[in-house]
Amino acid sequence: MFLDDFTIKKIQEGLTRKKFSALELTKAYLEKIKKEDKKIRAFLTISEDLAYSQAKKIDEMIFTGRKLPPLAGVPCAIKDNILVEGIRCTAGSKILENYIAPYDATVVKKLKEAGAIILGKTNLDEFAMGSSTENSAFFPTKNPLDLKRVPGGSSGGSAAAVAANLSVFALGSDTGGSVRQPAAFCGVVGLKPTYGAVSRYGLIAFASSLDQVGPIAKTVEDCEIVFEVIKGKDDLDSTSINPEFESQNFNLQIQNLTLGIPKEYFIEGMDKEVEKIVKEAIRKYEKMGAKIEEISLPHTQYALACYYIIAPSEASANLARYDGIKYGFSEAKNPKSKAKNLLQVYLQTRAKGFGSEVQRRIMLGTYALSAGYYEAYYLRAMKVRRLIKEDFEKAWEKVDFIVTPTAPTPAFKLGEKITDPLAMYLSDIFTVPASLAGLPAISLPCGRIDNLPVGLQIIGKPFQEKKIIALAKLYESGKN
Ligand code: GLN
Repeated sequence: MFLDDFTIKKIQEGLTRKKFSALELTKAYLEKIKKEDKKIRAFLTISEDLAYSQAKKIDEMIFTGRKLPPLAGVPCAIKDNILVEGIRCTAGSKILENYIAPYDATVVKKLKEAGAIILGKTNLDEFAMGSSTENSAFFPTKNPLDLKRVPGGSSGGSAAAVAANLSVFALGSDTGGSVRQPAAFCGVVGLKPTYGAVSRYGLIAFASSLDQVGPIAKTVEDCEIVFEVIKGKDDLDSTSINPEFESQNFNLQIQNLTLGIPKEYFIEGMDKEVEKIVKEAIRKYEKMGAKIEEISLPHTQYALACYYIIAPSEASANLARYDGIKYGFSEAKNPKSKAKNLLQVYLQTRAKGFGSEVQRRIMLGTYALSAGYYEAYYLRAMKVRRLIKEDFEKAWEKVDFIVTPTAPTPAFKLGEKITDPLAMYLSDIFTVPASLAGLPAISLPCGRIDNLPVGLQIIGKPFQEKKIIALAKLYESGKN
């Protein structure tokens, strides 16, 4: 079985034509992981028993001639901040090292109902805070295209697993770019849905006004199929809604479309090769008949500063629950602990359980929210967030999509930015604005510098993921 060519449709075809069984397919993937993940380290946990029991069910369905659900028999991987019942869920943190998820996240429940086979849980930056997966408390994941480089982050394990064909698709989470940037670094496709399009029930919260779950896959079509399965309102997440999604069969007329190119995204300091490749991609759309228009999103320059106030503020509140009493690692359970009272249990649990990036953000966040500073930092950042949102709203009066690079550079070397948080934060510069505005965005491969992939980001209006997907497909099909 040659796994590297598999897409969702090819797998379904193989299963229905009985070229292979779901069990055989699952076995082939698990064996490949055992063999090849030693060097990449995309996975934190392999859920072999779960995968085999799911595969058996699919084979029974095929045997009895039942109609197959949309992801029947398709092997997938889940970022380790999304709960899968009975399976360890670490969020990449020591504090949850031995935490077993008590229930399925809604997205996982939906994947299971759709017949997907869960192979395991993928590595991430601790609590999804980072852009390289080096902040994982366990080990860094490597970029399958160049093992000396990072896969991006924080969903680096998910993107690497897909790029290395250790999984057909994966789920990631995107707060400020964590689906799109690793997809770009690993040469695969990643979709961040509109805020509210997908339920976050069972996603370990990082920054609740920004977090979204999104698919990572090798093709735009596979991302689309997975998105169709996981989207929609969930009573267990009050921020999720059932919007008027585009009808299934609309036709995208490229000649009638205007693509906006924000001048603030082509800046001094970005990699010249990245700029060239992205501009070539834009020209391709122009040749297809799209109108290209330069636009301005004037508050872009404040997006990163704004994000790095809001996200840590929300994180500091969300992470208050890890106190050594309710979940996971606890100094109270350590017989050698020097903690003498409850406060010391809290403090020592958190000092030992959280890594330095998480601690840095908790400190930044609590500072920005503290009395006396709240107005100057948090409130101000929220006001800037509104201006960034309005920039996009104004742009939509003139253009249908906004097209940009996904990241200012291709994958950087392991260790290159880990001691310089600001340099690391800069890799989110092009993904953070759409997150702050709650907009849907996709990253798709548009070229390579030597062997390193470059990602093209397409940002759309709220709940127009269908249209973004259609535009991305045009590029993808034009490429071959
Ligand atoms: N790299 C960004 C951060 O560190 C985004 C992370 C994410 O989207 N989860 O916050």
